[in-house]
Amino acid sequence: MSGQTCSTDVVVLGGGPAGAACALRLARLGHRVTLVERAPRGRPHVGESLPPTVLPLLAELGLRERIEAAGFLRPRGALVQWDDAPHELNHDGPEPGFQVDRGHFDALLLEAAEAFGVNVLQPLGARAPRVDGDEVQVPLDDGRVLQASYVIDARGRRGAMNARAPATAALYAYWRGVIGLGARTRVEAGDDAWYWGAPLPDGTFNATVFVDARRCAGLDPWQRRALYRELIARSDLLGPSLDSAVCGPLQVCDATPRVDAEPISERLIKAGEAAFSIDPLSSQGVQAALRSALQAAACVHTMARREGSQALVQRFYGEQVERAASRHARLAAGFHAAAARHREHGFWQARRGAAQAPATRRASQPLPALHERVRLDPAAGFECVPALDGAFIIEATAVMHPALEAPVSFIDGIPVANLLAPLDTTPTVRELLQLWRNDYGDTRAVSLLASLWRQGIVAAAPAR
Ligand SMILES: Cc1cc2nc3c(=O)[nH]c(=O)nc-3n(C[C@H](O)[C@H](O)[C@H](O)COP(=O)(O)OP(=O)(O)OC[C@H]3O[C@@H](n4cnc5c(N)ncnc54)[C@H](O)[C@@H]3O)c2cc1C
Repeated sequence: MSGQTCSTDVVVLGGGPAGAACALRLARLGHRVTLVERAPRGRPHVGESLPPTVLPLLAELGLRERIEAAGFLRPRGALVQWDDAPHELNHDGPEPGFQVDRGHFDALLLEAAEAFGVNVLQPLGARAPRVDGDEVQVPLDDGRVLQASYVIDARGRRGAMNARAPATAALYAYWRGVIGLGARTRVEAGDDAWYWGAPLPDGTFNATVFVDARRCAGLDPWQRRALYRELIARSDLLGPSLDSAVCGPLQVCDATPRVDAEPISERLIKAGEAAFSIDPLSSQGVQAALRSALQAAACVHTMARREGSQALVQRFYGEQVERAASRHARLAAGFHAAAARHREHGFWQARRGAAQAPATRRASQPLPALHERVRLDPAAGFECVPALDGAFIIEATAVMHPALEAPVSFIDGIPVANLLAPLDTTPTVRELLQLWRNDYGDTRAVSLLASLWRQGIVAAAPAR
C-alpha cells in the first residue's frame, strides 16, 4: 500500500470525542470524511465524569439515546470537600450526567460516525499534515497518503501548547475491591493537591491526584507510586476506603490548561483538546471538546460551500477558542481561590488567578410590573460579529453588554436584532410581552423577559 494516495473531502485526525463528533457532523452535512485513529477501538482514556450539561450536545449530535442506553453509571451529584467539611453537590435539573468507560463511550461515537458513512481507519497513526496549495496531504504510518481539502486535527492535548495556569500533573490509578465509597464522584482539596475519585461501570474506582508538575519531575516509577500512595493516604474522602483495596498500575499525565496559538488556518482546524484543554476540575473537558468539534465542522462546511467566507470563519473560530479557554480559566481560578482562602500552600496560591470581575447581573431584583415601561439598557450596544447559525458561520448583529461574557447574536435561537427591536419604542411590559407572545409563544415570552431583565439588558425606562 506504500505511496498510494487516497482522496477525500475532509480528513479528521484522532477518534476521541472531538474527532468522532466532528466527522459525524461533517458526514451528515454531505462531506466525504476519512477519520484516522492511532489506537485500537475501545482504547482507555481518562475523563470519565460527564455532567448533565453534556446532554443537549449529545442530543444535537443525535447520540443522546445511544449513550443513555449504553448502561453507564448515572450519579445524581458529587461529594465535595473543598473547604473543611464534606457536602453534597447535587446537579440542578431532573436528569443526571454519566460516569462512563471512555473506551466504550468513544467507541459509540465512532460507530455512529461510521454509520453515517465516515471511513474510519483504525488502528493507524497519522503524521503531521502538509498544506500544498488548495490541498492538504496527510502521510499515514502504513505509507499511504490521504489528500483532502481540509484537515481537522483532533489528536488531543500536546505539551507544546501555551499554558494558561501553572503546570499540573495528574497521577491516577484504577482500584479494585473498593468498598464504602458509594456511587458519587468525590472531589477534595488537600493541603497541596486536589483529589478526584469516581466508580466506573466495570466496578473499578478511578482515584486521581492533581499536583504541581514539578513534584513528579525526575522521579522514577517507584518514587511516583510512593508519592501517589502517600497523597491518597492523606485524603479524607478516599484514603480510608482505598486503604484495603487493590491499586492498579499508576499512570501520570499532563493536566495543565493549555491553548493553541493558531487553532485555525486556511485548510487546517484544530478541534477539542488539540485547540485548548481546560482544568479537569470542572469535568467539562468532553463537552468542551464536543462543542468545539461542532464549531469546527461548521467552519469547514462554510468555507467549503461559501466562497470568500474564510476571513469570517477564521475570526469566528479564533474568538471561540480564546473565549472558551478564558472562561474556563476564570472558572478554575475561582475554585482555586476558594480553596486558597483556607490553605497557605503555594499550590493553591499560584492557581487562584486574578480576582473575578464584579457581577453586573441583578439576580434578585423583581420583574417590573405590567404597566411599567422598559427599554434597552443604555450600557448595551450592537455590533456585527461572526456567529454560528445552524450549519454555517454567518455575520450577525450581536448585543454587547457588561453582563455578557461575549457578544450574543442569538438568544434561545432568536436573532437578537429581531428580539430587541421592540424596545426602541419603550413599550410597557404588557405590550412587550404581547408582541413576543405573538412571535415566540406564551412561555418563551415570559422566560425571555425574565432572563434579559436578570442580566440587566432590559432596563426600566425613565417616567415620561
Ligand atoms: C486527569 C484528567 C481528568 C479528566 N477528567 C475529565 C472528566 O472527568 N470529564 C471530562 O469531561 N473531561 C475530563 N478530562 C478531559 C478529557 O479527557 C478531554 O477533554 C477529552 O478527552 C478531549 O477529547 P479529544 O477528542 O479532544 O481528545 P482525546 O480524547 O485525547 O482524543 C484524541 C485521539 O487522538 C488520537 N491520536 C493522537 N495522535 C494521533 C495520531 N498521530 N494519529 C492518529 N490518531 C492520533 C488518540 O489516540 C486519541 O484517541 C480530563 C483530563 C485529564 C487530563
